[in-house]
Amino acid sequence: MSSIRNDLVRATMNKIIMLTDHYIHNDIHKQFKFQQKSILADKSLTKDEKNEAINSLTTEYDRDKILFNDGKKRVFENCKQECLATSYCEHCVRNYLKTQFSNWTSGNNDIDDLVQKCQMETYMPNNIVEWIPYNNLQNIEYLTKADVLKFTRHIGSMEDMMNGILKNNN
Ligand SMILES: [Zn+2]
Repeated sequence: MSSIRNDLVRATMNKIIMLTDHYIHNDIHKQFKFQQKSILADKSLTKDEKNEAINSLTTEYDRDKILFNDGKKRVFENCKQECLATSYCEHCVRNYLKTQFSNWTSGNNDIDDLVQKCQMETYMPNNIVEWIPYNNLQNIEYLTKADVLKFTRHIGSMEDMMNGILKNNN
């Protein structure tokens, strides 16, 4: 397998996403088909890079199908449930997270409930809200009050957000 030029893959995908005419391709399925076709027709990417780009597009398409509850469902053989994602099963992801509920706690019921609620609405396996104990965090930076909003927008971790808020109240 040749090495993948990730910057070029990302740039090509961004270009294709920008070129997607939402009046012509007016639903997520048409948009995905157009973008997939454009990747395959691209002359700058290698075969492996095209596969990489299509895998990324498929993951985003899966997320959109679940987010908008729109698309053809399939029965996933492991759980026999109908799922929308094609590269994973959203029910299996959520069921796995549920089995882990007793293995972690923030020490605060409200925060635990919120994290659990977020996990039960997870769209994709690489984008999961989770509790991270403070001593597992690295490269912690002190933030001023003005940085809290920026900070919470960029970092998805609940504990990061809470630590940012707690620090600013001290
Ligand atoms: Zn499943």
